[in-house]
Amino acid sequence: MSTALLIDSHAHLDGEDFSEDRDAVIDRATAAGVTRIINIGATDGFEGAERSVKLAEQHEGIWCTVGIHPHDAALPSQRERLVELAKHPKVRAIGETGLDFFKEWSPREDQLRWFRLQVEIALEMNLPLVIHSREAGPECLSVLQEMNAAEVGGVFHCYAEDAAFAESLREINFLVSFTGIITFPKATTAHEAARTIPLEQIMIETDAPYLAPVPHRGKRCESAHVALTARRLAELRGISFEEVARQTTTNAEMFYQLSSQD
Ligand SMILES: [Zn+2]
Ligand SMILES: [Zn+2]
Repeated sequence: MSTALLIDSHAHLDGEDFSEDRDAVIDRATAAGVTRIINIGATDGFEGAERSVKLAEQHEGIWCTVGIHPHDAALPSQRERLVELAKHPKVRAIGETGLDFFKEWSPREDQLRWFRLQVEIALEMNLPLVIHSREAGPECLSVLQEMNAAEVGGVFHCYAEDAAFAESLREINFLVSFTGIITFPKATTAHEAARTIPLEQIMIETDAPYLAPVPHRGKRCESAHVALTARRLAELRGISFEEVARQTTTNAEMFYQLSSQD
């Protein structure tokens, strides 16, 4: 029997939001067919990165990334510390990094400094990049083009641009990934992007604990909810849930170098 297995390609399960019931959250994900989770180690600076590696060590179905979020970019550059963490075999990407000109919790120069540094590390370690971009699409793209990030590729997570922008990303080997936002009734740009970008370029994610899909909107999001995003993606494209599951899982397996037996 072929069951539709899903991968939550971007979640933050290492933080306080899950301190009470983390194991139950992971069990619920497994029960919902979400057999693998990529925990993004980029909250609370290096602490988050360290927690992320630990979490992945403790769970067979969890892999991780390490990075410094644009929100934390005021931190001094500590290249070696990040490189050391990234050497762990469960670390499969660098990030999330990028630029957030919407919240702008750190000065833009600092965001750029950490962004460039992480692109450099990704290239050096041959790991793909997880990009966080808010109101900074063209700026992110030009850094990635200029630094030749196409060599390792990456993903624009919580994709907020249109389908045309995704074409420029395809030229540098970048994917996009959709969150529960595509289940929000008024998210018309996201709907259009989800409908038209080639499925081969798409992953799905929860970004838990944030952005819970309908009908959990506004509550804490957890990895099991990625199934609702998959369902909505299928609906928007007029294809089956199984097809969405199969292709997005293949994409995430390739992106994060997971074997289909994992
Ligand atoms: Zn993000
Ligand atoms: Zn995130």
